[in-house]
Amino acid sequence: MEIDAHAKQQLRGLVSAIQRFSIHDGPGIRTLVFMKGCPLQCLWCGNPETQQFKPQLLYSSNRCIGCASCLKACPNGSIIMAGNGKPKTDRKLCRDCGICTQVCPSGARTMVGMYMSVEELLCEVKKDAPFYRSSDGGVTVGGGEPAMQSQTVSELLRRCQLELNINTAIETCGFADYQALETTVRFADLIFYDIKHMEPSRHRVLTGVSNQVILENIRRLALEGNRKIVIRTPIIPGYNDSEDSIRKLGEFAAGLGKAIARVELLPYHNYGAIKYIQLGRRYRLGKVKIPAPEHLSRLKDIIVATGIAAQIG
Ligand code: SF4
Ligand code: SF4
Repeated sequence: MEIDAHAKQQLRGLVSAIQRFSIHDGPGIRTLVFMKGCPLQCLWCGNPETQQFKPQLLYSSNRCIGCASCLKACPNGSIIMAGNGKPKTDRKLCRDCGICTQVCPSGARTMVGMYMSVEELLCEVKKDAPFYRSSDGGVTVGGGEPAMQSQTVSELLRRCQLELNINTAIETCGFADYQALETTVRFADLIFYDIKHMEPSRHRVLTGVSNQVILENIRRLALEGNRKIVIRTPIIPGYNDSEDSIRKLGEFAAGLGKAIARVELLPYHNYGAIKYIQLGRRYRLGKVKIPAPEHLSRLKDIIVATGIAAQIG
């Protein structure tokens, strides 16, 4: 659905972070904009703070000095002092209002998620323009799932691409109404498209949703054929890394035709584990090991044998 110029000026997005100087998510040096809110709940998610579509409280115990200011400030009685002299937040009572973060003197309590207008986002992006020019870099919008905020992301990328001549990329999980997805990627020079498993029931166990919409959407994007698509698959040992599973992925990707530039296999890491603790959540993949280089190399060869380019990382 097209919206008018006035509505475009009012667009705001819920953003969890802006990260500068990335070299992994598109050509050159890039600024990454992480949208907040995702329809999937992948077991291994490295950015759990981007999953919920609302600002959220983060608590870092190692920064807490035990002053108890937060206890007195919380209007919901969500915080009690634990035996170790540090506060404990009952997440069922917490409303993520952020009041405790305003009185915390040590930065132990912070909020993740800020509403920003397209103008404010552009202002941040433009700060890195010299690096885009010197490296053929640009902007990549990920998350979370950008298609949950399709109008805002589309307008941001439209202005980057058409007004500022900045290269644009999108990272999507593909689980969206097709019209919203098409709107989101309309001004993207490159699409990173996640496929986490080829088997619908297994996909549901790992992410909370079937992959049917995801596979159908990438078929339609590939048929349009006007943008390059890179398929990304996280390799999670014991969950989606069997040779048979990866072969099916390669065959599917190869069948999509020329729009698919390559398949990228992204080795599992646990860098996000600390964020689960900060959100008061349990990290469920604590025992999973990082995949061995020779296993990754074998999986890459399997993809290449199906007739499509592949790379690790
Ligand atoms: S975010 Fe609000 S409700 Fe939650 S612990 Fe802090 S003050 Fe209490
Ligand atoms: S206000 Fe901050 S430093 Fe003080 S007890 Fe609460 S979390 Fe700890």
